[in-house]
Amino acid sequence: MNHPKRLFAGVAALALTASGAVFAVRAWHGDVPAGSSAVAATPSTAGKTPGELSAAEKAARQKAVDAVLARRAVAIQKGDLKGFLATVDPKQTALVARERMLYTNLRKFGFSTLQYFTADTFEQVPTMITKFGAAAFSTRVMMRYQISGLDPRPVQTDLGYTFVQRAGAWVLVDDTATDEFLSEAGHRQPWDFDEVQLVRRDKVVVVVDKREASLGTKVAKVAEKAVTSVRKHWERPWNGAVLVVAMPQERVMSTLWTAGSGDGWTIAAKAVTLFEGEQLGKPIGSRIVVNPALRKKLDKDLLVHEMTHVATATLGLNAPIWAVEGLAEYVRCRSIEDDPHWSVDPYRKRVRTKYLSKLKALPNETVFADDADQAYGTSWWIVEYLADKLGEKKLATLYVDLSQHGETVLTKDTGLTAAQIVAGAKKFKG
Ligand SMILES: [Zn+2]
Repeated sequence: MNHPKRLFAGVAALALTASGAVFAVRAWHGDVPAGSSAVAATPSTAGKTPGELSAAEKAARQKAVDAVLARRAVAIQKGDLKGFLATVDPKQTALVARERMLYTNLRKFGFSTLQYFTADTFEQVPTMITKFGAAAFSTRVMMRYQISGLDPRPVQTDLGYTFVQRAGAWVLVDDTATDEFLSEAGHRQPWDFDEVQLVRRDKVVVVVDKREASLGTKVAKVAEKAVTSVRKHWERPWNGAVLVVAMPQERVMSTLWTAGSGDGWTIAAKAVTLFEGEQLGKPIGSRIVVNPALRKKLDKDLLVHEMTHVATATLGLNAPIWAVEGLAEYVRCRSIEDDPHWSVDPYRKRVRTKYLSKLKALPNETVFADDADQAYGTSWWIVEYLADKLGEKKLATLYVDLSQHGETVLTKDTGLTAAQIVAGAKKFKG
């Protein structure tokens, strides 16, 4: 959840650079005394820098660019490649190729709603001014969309676009120069890389590289089984709609694949939560992103863990980490042992002999960062203990309550204090 800080810090840093650039441009023009109103003194906006635009002119520019963005959305929804590319400067051949790819990919997702609109204005970005002139307009653009059959409500991601006017019309000239000022997953969505292939199986949608279509089929089969397993042990309604991204590109969804302190440990897959607006407020759902290095070794167990996060993502953000990871591990282990040929006995043994003696309190973020094995193992054991005491139905009720209200509901829902839960889990034989 450090996203908003990073984002605002980014925008602030850019604003500083931009005002420096405005000053440089004015000094270069040499005809505008500092402090004077350039707009009032100049009858036409032609040749003026954006820094000199009046509020009304800026509003008109934003309106014009929003209209271009709206045409792009309509073109995608209608399947109008020509109309889509008409918003792109034909002289930028690399950009045109990227946009063509973007269009092809976006068409595959099938959006029930799709909207683009301008957000924070970056004003003058030095590299863009140098390349496209002083009137180049760089802005953060929000993409608000809803994938059919997947997202219950629209979710949002961001892009950084630069536009210029050609023969009176605004066209897109750049889509990458301001990427560093976007949110972490901004312009790193599955459709922002190479051509993708989507494999749908019931409510599961898997995104892979087009050249790895057979991997998509494999992952979809495994994912569908994982959905069934989660449904069996998570005693709350869940429709099983999930998007699994198993692409080869390292930076997709901007996920980092190591965690913890020191050398850390490798993350095999992650559930990335989606929000309605900026990354604050109530979560709408989540996507599963598989570590590109491990995408071909993906098994059902791992997906069960991540899907438990997906199934519970919309409940709220207040569940303590031991409950979040403990529940995901609980559902994963139960689902393994649903098959009589498999057992988690080695894991059970490791927890009992190695980890439980070190358990002093409900594992917090520090324990997870310092010793992930210990943290995951003991959190699993605590949830096993609670499931044994309460049953899966009441365990689900407890989890919903924790997600909404945090750890303060623990005693009310279990009849035990945190210390009693720890003591009970340490004695629990499983
Ligand atoms: Zn997890």
